[in-house]
Amino acid sequence: MSIQVFRPKFEVDECLDEIRKCLEKGWTGMGFKTVEFEEAWKKYTGLSFAYYVNSATAGLYLAVEILKQEHGWQDGDEIISTPLTFISTNHAIHRSGMKVVFADIDDTMCLSPKSVEEHITEKTRAIMFVGIGGNIGHYYDIVNLCQTHNLTLILDAAHMSGTRVNGIIPGKEAEAVIYSYQAVKNLPTADSGMLCFRNGKLDEIARKIGWLGINKDTYTRSTNSGNYKWRYNVEYVGDKSHGNSIMAAIGLVQLRYLDRDNAYRRQIANWYRERLKKYPEQIKLVTIPKECESSTHLFQIIVDHRDELILALNAKNIAPGVHYADNTIYPMYQYAQGTCPQATYFSEHVLSLPMHMELTYDDVQYICDEVIKFVKQ
Ligand SMILES: *Cc1c(COP(=O)(O)O)cnc(C)c1O
Repeated sequence: MSIQVFRPKFEVDECLDEIRKCLEKGWTGMGFKTVEFEEAWKKYTGLSFAYYVNSATAGLYLAVEILKQEHGWQDGDEIISTPLTFISTNHAIHRSGMKVVFADIDDTMCLSPKSVEEHITEKTRAIMFVGIGGNIGHYYDIVNLCQTHNLTLILDAAHMSGTRVNGIIPGKEAEAVIYSYQAVKNLPTADSGMLCFRNGKLDEIARKIGWLGINKDTYTRSTNSGNYKWRYNVEYVGDKSHGNSIMAAIGLVQLRYLDRDNAYRRQIANWYRERLKKYPEQIKLVTIPKECESSTHLFQIIVDHRDELILALNAKNIAPGVHYADNTIYPMYQYAQGTCPQATYFSEHVLSLPMHMELTYDDVQYICDEVIKFVKQ
C-alpha cells in the first residue's frame, strides 16, 4: 500500500450511531441533524450564523450571489482573489457575472496584502481570501485594507476548520466564511460545507435561495400544525444547496475530534520541519505567522525539479500532491496569465507531502529520507 497525500479518518461506530438516529426517526434530509450541526458549529467557531450546505462550492456560490444581489453590485464589478486555490473559489466569482481580479501571493501561500492593494480599483467590491493549508497568512492586513477601502471580505475557509489565531477562531471580520467538510478536508463527511454569514438577513436569504427560493422548509412545517402548513411561497429562482441529516450526523461526530486530530496534524508537521529545515538551500518551507495555530490541512514544501521529485517519491510508494496549479492557466482566467509571478513560481515548485491521521512517526521519517536523498543529488 502506498502512502497517500490524504486519507480521511472516521469515528466509525459513533458515526453509525448518529446515522442510525436519522434512519430510526425517518428523517435523513434537511432539518433534524443539520440543525444540530449548525448549532454545534456556531458554538465551536463563535460565528453568529451557520447554514449547512451540500458543499463549500455551493456555499461559495451562494455567498457571492447573495452579496452581489444585496449590495447591488453589477456585472463586471471586481473581486480580488488568489490564483493559487481550488478552482471553486474563483468560479464562484466568475459565475456570478463579476470579474476575478488576480493578486499575487506571498511566502505564506496566501494573498499578499501589498499586491492586493495594488489591484484595488473603482470597481473593486470585495476581497476573497483563502487560508491555504489552514494558514492565516496576512489575513488581518487584508481585514484592514477592506476597512480602509470599504470593501467586503469573503473568507474561503475550506482548509481552516479548527485554525486559531491567538487562541480564537478567525472569521468574525468577514461578511461570509465558507468551510468545507469534503472527504479529505480536516472535518471529513463525504461532501458538505458551512456558509457563515455575519448578517442574519443574508443567512435567511441563503436558506431560501439554497432551497429553490422556497420560504419555509419542510422541517419547520413538520413541527408546526394547522391546515395551511403545506402552503409556501417561492420568492427566488434558487438552487438546491442545502445539506442533509446523514452528512450532518457524520459531521457532528467528527467535530468532537477536530481539535484532537488537528493537534496530531501539527505534530506530523513538526516532525517534517525538524528534518527538512536542515536543508534550507534545497527545501523551502511555508511561512506560518507565529500567532497562528494552523489546522495544518496541508504540509507544503517548495523545491526545484518538483515534477521529478514526485516521480521519485511515487517509485517509493509515496503519493504526494500539488496544491494548486496557478488558476490563470485555465481558459476562462487566461486574461490574467503572467500577472502573478509568485503564484506561477509556487505552482511549479510546490509539493504537498502526505498529511493525514494514519501517518506515523516512522512514515514521516521514511518520506523525509526520500525527499532528502533526492534534493542532495
Ligand atoms: C475543497 C475546497 C473547496 C471546495 O470544497 P467542496 O466542499 O469540495 O465544494 C473550496 N475552496 C478550497 C480552497 C478548497 O480546498
